[in-house]
Order: sequence, then structure tokens, then C-alpha cells
Amino acid sequence: DSLVEIQNVSKLFDLSQSAIDQLLGREAQPVRAVQDVDLTINKGDIMGIAGESGCGKTTLGKLLVKLYEPTSGRILFDGRDMSELLREDQQEFRQRVQMIFQDPFESLNPRMTVFQSVVEPLKINDIGDGYQDRREQVIQVLNDVGLSPAEAYLNEFPKELSGGERQRVAIARALVVNPDFIVCDEPVSMLDVSIRAGVLNLMKELQDEYGLTYVFISHDLSLIRYMCDRTAIMYLGNIVEQGPTDDVVNDPKHPYTEALFDAVPEIEPGAQRRRANVTGEVPNPRNPPSGCKFHPRCANIIPPEDWSGSQDAFRRGFNFKRRVQTGDLEVEDIAEGHADQRSAVDAVLETGLSLELPEEHQADGERMGTVDVDSIDIP
Ligand code: ADP
Ligand code: MG
Repeated sequence: DSLVEIQNVSKLFDLSQSAIDQLLGREAQPVRAVQDVDLTINKGDIMGIAGESGCGKTTLGKLLVKLYEPTSGRILFDGRDMSELLREDQQEFRQRVQMIFQDPFESLNPRMTVFQSVVEPLKINDIGDGYQDRREQVIQVLNDVGLSPAEAYLNEFPKELSGGERQRVAIARALVVNPDFIVCDEPVSMLDVSIRAGVLNLMKELQDEYGLTYVFISHDLSLIRYMCDRTAIMYLGNIVEQGPTDDVVNDPKHPYTEALFDAVPEIEPGAQRRRANVTGEVPNPRNPPSGCKFHPRCANIIPPEDWSGSQDAFRRGFNFKRRVQTGDLEVEDIAEGHADQRSAVDAVLETGLSLELPEEHQADGERMGTVDVDSIDIP
């Protein structure tokens, strides 16, 4: 029984001309963040979206909660086209569909107390019968997310809480309106490893208790394996493979999926995967599969004949410095002179230089940092 149907959805972002475009005298190109995606999400499922940073996971999540409109294609929620909802249906939709972000501060206003943050959606959606009733609902949901006694939290500001408590408040804020569907975008990746399991188990309990359907976005495949009934693997804005999580993990059909799982240290050494069905090579971003030419990691990459020129442009345009003693290169320095929203890492990729980030910098939002200069390969 399907709750959400994504039909041939693409999302393009128009970008201003970047510094590197200017240096090379090129037009700005749109970024195709999500491309021709088809996906069905069944009621009561946890649907995983996995893939490396920049592949379009967050954009897809935001399309699902109508924070973005698709450039083309459509998304049906409970059989209704989300972009054609009538006014009263929009209000119902806003209540039934919620999103939890990696950073709790995307949901929480730092100037609002826990009570104010959690009661606000009740007010906006006109739920509850006066102050006392709403206060009881807030206390109930805070207890449900493990913040108890709830009364002790009501007047705290987010700053005064631990990371885990803050994310629980963000979850409470999403839950208090009794939604059907929650998009969870890397909900534990900013939390200490030691408290992640607690929050994930809570999310599973809440799923049963509240009858929820989740989309669970993560670049961390062990979390996907732990949480998700079905999983879709994204690469360069496309879904390259989807199916029951066990099948995707144990019997990947696409070489990219295989490569993604191979990059994860094996926790149970005995658990060998079958590989018989995998054929072909992992698509190289410099030699992309057809149809993704708008992606910054594809189209904007300079053809090999221009590489020496682009190296110059790279050196002139982005004031990077080598710290010879440590062998490190400051990515933040590369970011200087980079005029649009794309990260320094994208800028490096654009120049045709390949770059491997140490694992600790690969998480979303952590792409700025120091990278090992040895891993930058100048063709
Ligand atoms: P992920 O969540 O998998 O890391 P995102 O959905 O955040 O990926 O980004 C996908 C691609 O779209 C990236 O190349 C990113 O730079 C680009 N992108 C995302 N949001 C915007 C935006 N608001 N404006 C321009 N480009 C964007
Ligand atoms: Mg993201």
C-alpha cells in the first residue's frame, strides 16, 4: 500500500556564474541535483536513501516535504499530486508530513524554550483546546521522546541541552502534530557515536507507537542496514538501485552499490556477500553515465585537453596553500574566491583534479577542512 509516489522527478538549481566559470569564460550551468527519480514509499515502511555527500539526498528529502518544488515530474502523497493541493489540503499536508534535519537548529529557534518550540506547531495547525490542553500534549510528546520528567525541560533553551536532547526536542516538535510521514535527513550524524543507538531505537519505537512511515537519509550504510526495510542508492542525482535492504546489501546489482558497501569496514567478517550479479565498472564522475551532464561533477569538469589551463586557473583563482611540513592543503583557502554555494570540494572536482577526503571530512556539512595533499592527483 503506497503512501508516496515519486514519478520521474528532477530538481535543477540555477547557479550564478562561479569564480571558476569566470576564469574559464564559461556560462553558469544549472545543477541537476535530482534526476529522473522514480520511487514508491509504502505505508509503515522505513525507506532508506543512501549515497555519498552531494548525490542529492537532502534535495530529494526536501522535495518530499514540499520545501522544494520539482523542476519536472510529480510526487503523489496519498494519491494526490503535491503541487496541486488546494488551500485546505495544504494545511492538512503540512500537518501530516514532517522533516527532521541533521542539525537540530534547522528545526529549533535558539531563542525559543523547549515548550515554545514544541507548542508552536500545535498553534500553527490549530490543534488542541486552549493552553492547558496544548501543554498536556507537549508534556506527553516530550515523555514519548525520552525527555522525562518533561516538566524539567519545558523552560530550557536549546543551547542548554546536550546534542542528543536537542535532537529529541526536534523529533518532539515533528511528532506533536501526529504526522503520518517523517523525512529524517541524517538525524544522528551530528550526535556522539555513543548516543546514536539510543536515538535510532527511539525512532523505531515511535514508528510503532505513532504508526509512522519514514524516509531515512544517511551516508552511513551501517545505519541504513540497521534501520531500513527498503533502500534506494543514489549516485549523481540518480537512483541507481532500490529494493529490500537485505537484497541491496547482500546482492547488489549495480557496481556503484557494490563499491559503496566495499568502502565500509566489514563488521561481521564471516558475512561474505555474493558478487555474481555485478558487472561493469563504477561510473567515473569524469566520465559520467549518459544523462547526467548537468551535474557539477560531470558537465563542469574540464575536458582533458584543458587540464593544464585549468590547473593555472585553479592556482590563480583559489588561493590555496600547501603546508609542506605537514603535507596538508587547506581546503578553506581554496574556498576563497569561490563565489557560489558550491563547496570547495566541488570546486576542486570542477577543475578536474581528483580529491579523496579523509573519512572524517566526508560527512555532510563537514566538507570544509584540511585534506591530505598526497591524495590530490593532478592529471
Ligand atoms: P546530499 O544531501 O546527498 O549531500 P544535496 O541534495 O545537498 O546532496 O546536494 C546535491 C547537489 O545539489 C550538490 O551538488 C549541491 O551542491 C547542489 N545543491 C543542493 N542544494 C542547492 C541549492 N540550494 N542551490 C544550489 N545547489 C544546490
Ligand atoms: Mg544532505
